[in-house]
Amino acid sequence: MNFTRRDLLKAGAFASVTAASPLAAQPLLVSPASSLMPRSGKRRVVIAGGGWGGMTAARHLREKAPDLEVVMLERNPVFWSCPLSNKWLIDVVDTNFLVHSYMAPARRHGYTFVQTEITGIDRGKKQVHTAQGYVDYDWLVLAPGIRYAFEAWFGNDRKAIDHTRTNFPTAYIPSAEHALVKQKIRSFKGGTFVMTLPPPPHRCPPSPYERACLMAWWWKTHKIPAKLVILDPKPRIAPITVGFREAFEDLYKDIVTHVPNAGVKEVDPFNKVIKTTAGDFKFDDALLMTPHQAGDLAWKAGVIGKNPKGQDTGWAAVDPQLYNLKDDPQLFVIGDAVGAVSPHFGHYPKSGHVANRQAKAVAVHIADQAKGNAPKPVIIDNLCYMLVNNSPREAISVQFDYKIGPDGLLHQSQIDDNDRRAELWESDLRWVAYMFEDFAAG
Ligand SMILES: Cc1cc2nc3c(=O)[nH]c(=O)nc-3n(C[C@H](O)[C@H](O)[C@H](O)COP(=O)(O)OP(=O)(O)OC[C@H]3O[C@@H](n4cnc5c(N)ncnc54)[C@H](O)[C@@H]3O)c2cc1C
Repeated sequence: MNFTRRDLLKAGAFASVTAASPLAAQPLLVSPASSLMPRSGKRRVVIAGGGWGGMTAARHLREKAPDLEVVMLERNPVFWSCPLSNKWLIDVVDTNFLVHSYMAPARRHGYTFVQTEITGIDRGKKQVHTAQGYVDYDWLVLAPGIRYAFEAWFGNDRKAIDHTRTNFPTAYIPSAEHALVKQKIRSFKGGTFVMTLPPPPHRCPPSPYERACLMAWWWKTHKIPAKLVILDPKPRIAPITVGFREAFEDLYKDIVTHVPNAGVKEVDPFNKVIKTTAGDFKFDDALLMTPHQAGDLAWKAGVIGKNPKGQDTGWAAVDPQLYNLKDDPQLFVIGDAVGAVSPHFGHYPKSGHVANRQAKAVAVHIADQAKGNAPKPVIIDNLCYMLVNNSPREAISVQFDYKIGPDGLLHQSQIDDNDRRAELWESDLRWVAYMFEDFAAG
């Protein structure tokens, strides 16, 4: 049975908002096998995932390619920002600061937002399948973020995976995990608290160290006898090596121990033991960060790259300067899911800033394709501020710049600002205000 859009709207079958039809979330009344959204007559861009990359792409596509219909599909009812969420864990910012409406920007910029779980992608038919029906596309922008690769530790051992996910969550994906981590920090009465860091590449490389500083600040301020052990697979803290090292030594000497070269070999979440290449560690509580990979949707779309041995890289293989697939040029991937972009430095830092820049670049590329023009590379940058002290508020930062070298490849330069100071915290607030205004303002 085929439903028309009018039928669906009458039935309130999906939660969506367009410039013309603001609706609230409604129960599902339609088969996932039918079309969720008949063609409007315009060519359509579907954005799969409404995080930092997807939201930015939706807004800027409407500006750069006003003749195209833009549809954004996202499972969460509201936008939750991972950037600044470490500060939320210790009440530097409140919940309203991180949460944004999906409805208001969709109305303001004139795209359609549908709250739904994406269940599959049929590249042959150019359809995105959702729990509520499929959506046809001419262009697809995949912006699924990351997944936690529990299999790297536990294989198919569901019991160990579920126990770890439930008891030692990490809050690295926009979800209710953040509330669990906040609760965990507050209820810790003392003892050894372990943080495992994923091997690179992973989401927001400096953020685990920032989180360590802010957790240590909380326990120091509340006089909790906590020892925080950071198990880091890298040989040294990176990025902002000196700034974080000095913060650990100057501010949290009695609390934080950073253990380099501590790659995880085995995790026993039931007996709370971790075996690493730097020795074995017992813990009372923990944030157990597994390796990160491109989000599930990138796997479902079949865009994961292969290494020279023919193994999955875990990340999407896209053109390093245009972010589309060589054999499917109207399929773009943006944000953390993107794989290595240069033999000189590997991956772009997996940050909200980079996701924002890539989304804007892809809006330009799609507008060019729609007009029949050849897309040209758009050079991006990256910037991250990390709060290391909350009394007084002091931050450090890292900036990355990129250029295309004479070899035609991307080159990266990095500037660490290790000198912690209030001014960088103020810059962080200005940065995030600009970013939220850029994609989430309604
Ligand atoms: C603690 C922490 C601190 C950080 N600090 C900073 C910072 O200071 N600066 C900075 O630039 N970056 C920071 N980041 C990194 C930043 O959050 C990510 O790089 C950014 O969110 C990547 O954007 P994205 O669009 O690729 O993924 P996301 O923002 O994660 O968006 C992906 C979206 O896809 C949706 N999705 C996935 N699968 C489906 C599906 N099947 N169906 C429907 N929807 C789906 C998800 O719900 C999600 O909303 C931080 C991250 C963390 C965890």
